Amino acid sequence: MNECWKIAVIGSGPAGFYAAGELFRQKSWEIKVDMFERLPTPFGLVRGGVAPDHQKIKSVQKIYTRIAENENFRFFGNVEIGRDIFQADLLEHYDAVIYSVGSPADRELGIPGEDLSGSHSATEFVAWYNGHPDFCDYKFDLSARNAFVIGIGNVALDVARILAKTHEELAKTDIADYALEALRASQLEDIWLVGRRGPLQAAFSPAELREFMELADADVLVEKNLLELDAESQQILETDASNDTKKNIEILKQISKKDVSGKKRRVHFLFLTSPVEISGNEKVEKISMVRNQLVKRKDGSLAPQATAEISEAAAGLVFRSIGYHGKALPDLPFDQKSGTIPNECGQVKDPGNGNVLRKREYVAGWIKRGPVGVIGTNKQDAVETVHRMLETFLNEKLEARKNYANPDIVSLLEKRKVEYVSFADWKLLDAHETDVGQKHGRPRVKLTSLAEMLSVIHQENN
Ligand SMILES: Cc1cc2nc3c(=O)[nH]c(=O)nc-3n(C[C@H](O)[C@H](O)[C@H](O)COP(=O)(O)OP(=O)(O)OC[C@H]3O[C@@H](n4cnc5c(N)ncnc54)[C@H](O)[C@@H]3O)c2cc1C
Repeated sequence: MNECWKIAVIGSGPAGFYAAGELFRQKSWEIKVDMFERLPTPFGLVRGGVAPDHQKIKSVQKIYTRIAENENFRFFGNVEIGRDIFQADLLEHYDAVIYSVGSPADRELGIPGEDLSGSHSATEFVAWYNGHPDFCDYKFDLSARNAFVIGIGNVALDVARILAKTHEELAKTDIADYALEALRASQLEDIWLVGRRGPLQAAFSPAELREFMELADADVLVEKNLLELDAESQQILETDASNDTKKNIEILKQISKKDVSGKKRRVHFLFLTSPVEISGNEKVEKISMVRNQLVKRKDGSLAPQATAEISEAAAGLVFRSIGYHGKALPDLPFDQKSGTIPNECGQVKDPGNGNVLRKREYVAGWIKRGPVGVIGTNKQDAVETVHRMLETFLNEKLEARKNYANPDIVSLLEKRKVEYVSFADWKLLDAHETDVGQKHGRPRVKLTSLAEMLSVIHQENN
């Protein structure tokens, strides 16, 4: 096939890069990819979500950089779809569009007091400590003694671990400078991780759990009696449980046997507990929680059910970490409940329009399947989308369009005075951050404001 297809990929997280990589792997198709990203920096949650003390995981950026070095790839950072350019512009300039914009919003608990000052979403805290420009001005009252993290998945564990680490531990990472300083002054003594289900149903991974045993100045505690499994749970553990669950139980048992050695901070794992109210005079002062029991549902699975046992505790900070949620994009369908763009194998469908499949619009990653799965999960997800797209081109006998309304998106961006950032510009930022980092024995020192990023690019280019 001699035609050249122009594909726009929206969002530069794992899903966007895996989609671009798969497009370039097609030997019988000539494909050019333009990637648009609302931030000047690429890599989505790999830069802005993955914890700063998990540098090994962030090294996946090298794979994405190799994809970006393909001669048929262009990066347009600092360009937001829905603000700078719109769906109609994309359809005018490209044969197809893959939206891989992630799930940037968070879910609410739906309990009284969750809007009080001092009650935050994990999304905000994670984005703040990772130096996301939209969150760098946020403030967290770290003069509090008690913090409650609601939820007990890997993100909740990240939040609790960052709160529990010492300045020396954090100073080796690429945590945002302002967060490093704010956390240095932290008065926190007790950090509670609150999970509504039991240890057998916990969603964290063993590697994340094990890290709590290695904290320099924080003890970790778990209620011993919760690990004494009843006969039914013991049977589930032996027959149905995944290897990760078995490892989790083993590690929790080790934690429960460990002596509490009087360290500065304590991290408590609270299972079978749900918050019912956050209260205080203008700011968070207290949290009320109910004890749950597990009951069998019709399908045989175990679900938490509230008992009459209510407890109260002093709280200065609350972080809810009960999941991310997608945001609607203009001119695209959106399922509010799942927070995803309705699709069939990645092909966007219009539910209000008889489930008609759009031929030139596709989705990949969290906005396609919801906020679940690790970085690698987005690879097979993006591969599915790309193949669905190419099959549609063939089945529908579509042809790559030769006469576009505008010769190139660049002229439109220039006309609209959008100050876009190329991948070469990002490499200048990257070199600047890593150079400054090296001087301080850190992987990088992140630039966290848009103005600062653009100014460094100008300086380095001149
Ligand atoms: C706090 C946290 C920690 C995590 N830690 C790990 C971990 O340690 N290991 C692991 O394997 N997985 C981890 N994950 C999961 C992993 O990050 C996700 O699976 C993955 O990032 C999802 O990829 P995505 O491309 O769909 O979305 P994202 O990574 O969110 O990328 C979406 C991109 O789209 C951009 N965008 C959004 N809207 C627009 C728009 N309108 N115009 C232009 N661009 C736009 C965003 O700025 C972003 O760059 C973590 C997730 C979170 C939330």
